[in-house]
Order: sequence, then structure tokens, then C-alpha cells
Amino acid sequence: MGHASPIDVVVVGAGIAGLAAARELLTSGLHAIVVEATDRIGGRARTVELGGYPVDLGATWLHSASVNPLVTIARRLGFETVESVAEPRLYVAAGEERRWGSDAELAEAIGFRVGTDSAVVAVGEQGRDEPIASIIDTGSRWAPLYEWWIGAYTAADPENASTLDYARYHETNENMSVPRGIGTLVTTFGADLQVELSTPVRRIRWSGRGVSVESDAGTIEARAAIVTVSTSVLASGTIRFDPGLPAWKLDAIGAVPLGSANKIVVVFDRNVFGEEASLSVRIDEARRETVGMQIRPFGRNLASGYIGGEFSRSLEAAGADAMVDFMLERLQWMYGSEIVRHVKATAASAWSSDPWIAGAYSAALPGKAHLRPDLARPVGDRLFFAGEATAEGFYTTVHGGYLSGLRAAKEAVAALSVGSCRSGVGG
Ligand SMILES: Cc1cc2nc3c(=O)[nH]c(=O)nc-3n(C[C@H](O)[C@H](O)[C@H](O)COP(=O)(O)OP(=O)(O)OC[C@H]3O[C@@H](n4cnc5c(N)ncnc54)[C@H](O)[C@@H]3O)c2cc1C
Repeated sequence: MGHASPIDVVVVGAGIAGLAAARELLTSGLHAIVVEATDRIGGRARTVELGGYPVDLGATWLHSASVNPLVTIARRLGFETVESVAEPRLYVAAGEERRWGSDAELAEAIGFRVGTDSAVVAVGEQGRDEPIASIIDTGSRWAPLYEWWIGAYTAADPENASTLDYARYHETNENMSVPRGIGTLVTTFGADLQVELSTPVRRIRWSGRGVSVESDAGTIEARAAIVTVSTSVLASGTIRFDPGLPAWKLDAIGAVPLGSANKIVVVFDRNVFGEEASLSVRIDEARRETVGMQIRPFGRNLASGYIGGEFSRSLEAAGADAMVDFMLERLQWMYGSEIVRHVKATAASAWSSDPWIAGAYSAALPGKAHLRPDLARPVGDRLFFAGEATAEGFYTTVHGGYLSGLRAAKEAVAALSVGSCRSGVGG
């Protein structure tokens, strides 16, 4: 790994946080390079081509659109952004019963969700950090659907999700989507940046004045590093810090692990749904093992399922075929057994078993949400931290990752310019 001029900052990880940090560093006149373990940029933003459609296996929506900087960036880069217009539907699968839910049932389910959500937020806003499970009326028929929602929203089961963390997330309830894919948006954003691919970082030494970043492709000396890998990757010890990270940082990393969430996508060779509209279907099952589906998004002949929490982790462990079978079984309930003859392509994500991600997005454990801000705190004025988990108010998201990258880059620029002044004065 030869580098012509001295490097100011090594950015570890080429997800949105690392790419945003690198761009900000370059704009500030610093020499930065990004090192990425895998052979592609984008991290958890990943669009694949499936049956002729661009399909996101990770991030799908630009949440909180009116305060989401990526909406403006997407338009500037020539991406169409579309407001979510899917019609909500409920499908009931209770015991032997298989039928579409009535409007009244859908209204009840939505009412339960809105009411429970407000109660969870109210508890969090009082500063109480309790498991979300303790707020849910589990006697209600709609509890499993709400539990699915928490699994999808936080990637954790309600027992492992914190009321305080939930309340501190800044939600405006406006979702935009990008028909060409969020993954394509992120890779386009980062396309002109210098990224060393297939370069897993194994050790970061920071005992001297700068940092020494050791990877499978060699060692890079720099003045500082910005580490953007997920909290679960940090906890796994794949990157060794020398000296070790301080106890307060390790405590924060342990307090905010990644939960699990996955997508299961089935593309058909025709419109098997008998619908022209895009639908957002929730399946009402008496168990927590339920799924939410987007049917015909952008008028495409596909169904995209979303699962979260421990159920997502266990179905992922059972393999892609089991995930697709689970999805197809439910689609057959809704649209008839004939539809399997028209399956054109399938895909299932496996984010928990990806060693460079190790989950979906971060969720503070109950009682530990107060430690999340420590994830962003620099160490020794030369180790800076970015990534969705470190984003104030916007964790779990792509725009959170983006904003965290800008923040960490600004911290590094400030620290390095103070460092330069000091060394200038000293001599
Ligand atoms: C199923 C799913 C659905 C989602 N839906 C949405 C959504 O609709 N809207 C939304 O806003 N967000 C969504 N998210 C979350 C969003 O994708 C993430 O918050 C965001 O992409 C995280 O970006 P990041 O840069 O912080 O981390 P990452 O994207 O994880 O980037 C970190 C990078 O570091 C690399 N890396 C790891 N270890 C090393 C190492 N040792 N050396 C070098 N490189 C390393 C990884 O390969 C990765 O590329 C979803 C995520 C998932 C999984």
C-alpha cells in the first residue's frame, strides 16, 4: 500500500458515515483515505438487481424526510425521490382463519400501535429507561403486531429495547423512497472518493503521536483515524486497539448492540396480486413471528417482506431458502397457491451473519440508553467515532450515518489544526 503524500486521516469503513467523513475531510483540505473490509462501498445501504428491478436489501427509506439531508443530496445527484403512498392493509392469520382484515380491524390495529407508541414515548420523555415490553398490553389481540413493529423499527425485541432510546429518536413520520435504490444513491455519493477495498483493518495503534492502522494490505501511518464500523463489529474484537479502548468507551459499545432485521424479496413474472395500487400489508398472527410487506412498490411485480428482532435472527440462521419459504407461504395465503408458478427471482438478506456488519442497526439496552452519547466521544484526540449508532437523534438510519460522518470529520479537523498550531508554536 504505497501513498505518495502523508495521510492526515484514515477512515475505517466505507458505509455512508465513512464516505461522508472522507468528503468533509477533503473539503477541509486534509488528505484522507478510506479503508473498507469488503469489495464494495455502501455497507448497510445495498441495492442489488433482482429480476430486472433495483432492490434494496438494506436501507430502503429516507426517513424524517423534511430534516433528512440525503433528500437534497439525492436530488442534486439526479435521483428521483418519491413520497411513500402505499395503501395500508391487514391480513388475518389466526388459527385456521385466513382472510383479509376489515377496515375496522385495520383501524383498531393502527389505534393500538399509535396509543402504545405514545405511551412508550411518554415514559421515555420522563427520563425513564425501561424495556418497551413493560408498556405493551400483552392481553391485546394487537400486541404481536406491535411487537413486530418494535422489531422492525429498533431491530430489537421489546424486552431488549429501551423506552428512553426510543423517545430520543427524532421521528417526523415522513418517508421518501428512491426508486433506483438507497444503495445506489450511497455508492454514487461516494463514487469519486479514494477507497481501498478488500482491506480489513485488524489493529489500530494509537500510543504514539498519530495512529498506525494495520490492515491485511499493509500499515498506514496517519495523524488520526475515524472509525465508522458498527458497534457489534467493535464489540467482536475484530479490530484490536493498542492500547485498548478506555472502559467508558467499551461500556458504551456493549450498551448499544445491533439488533436484527432482514428483507425477503420475491419478484414475479407478472402482476400476481390483482392489484394496481402499492400496498403496505401487516400480517396479524397470534405470534411475534410476523412480517410486514410492501406489495407492488413503484408498481413493480414484487413483494418485499420485513422481519425484525430475534425472529429475524433465527430465520436468518435457518438460511435463505427457509426465509423465502416463509414469505411465499404467506403470499400464497393472500394471493393463492398458483402464484408460485410465476416466481422469477428471490433474495433474502443476512445482515447478522455478515462479519463486517454483525446485525442491522443499533438499539440501546433497557437501562443503558444514557451511555449512547459516549459512542461519539473521541479518544486521545486522534481516534474519532462515526456510524449510525453515534448519531444524536437519528441513530439506526442512513442520514444518521451521514451526519455522524460530518460531525467526526469536523472534530478531526479541529483537533488536527490545534495540533498543527501547537507544533508550529513549539518549533
Ligand atoms: C435490513 C435493513 C433495513 C434498513 N432500513 C433503513 C431505512 O429504511 N432507512 C434508513 O435510514 N436506514 C435503514 N437501515 C439502516 C442503515 O442502513 C444504516 O443505519 C446505515 O447504512 C449505516 O451506515 P454506517 O456507515 O454507519 O455503517 P455501515 O454501513 O455498516 O458501514 C460500515 C462499513 O465498515 C466496514 N467494516 C467493518 N469492519 C471493518 C474493518 N475491520 N476494516 C475495514 N472496514 C470494515 C463494513 O464492511 C461497512 O462497509 C436499514 C438497515 C438494514 C440492515
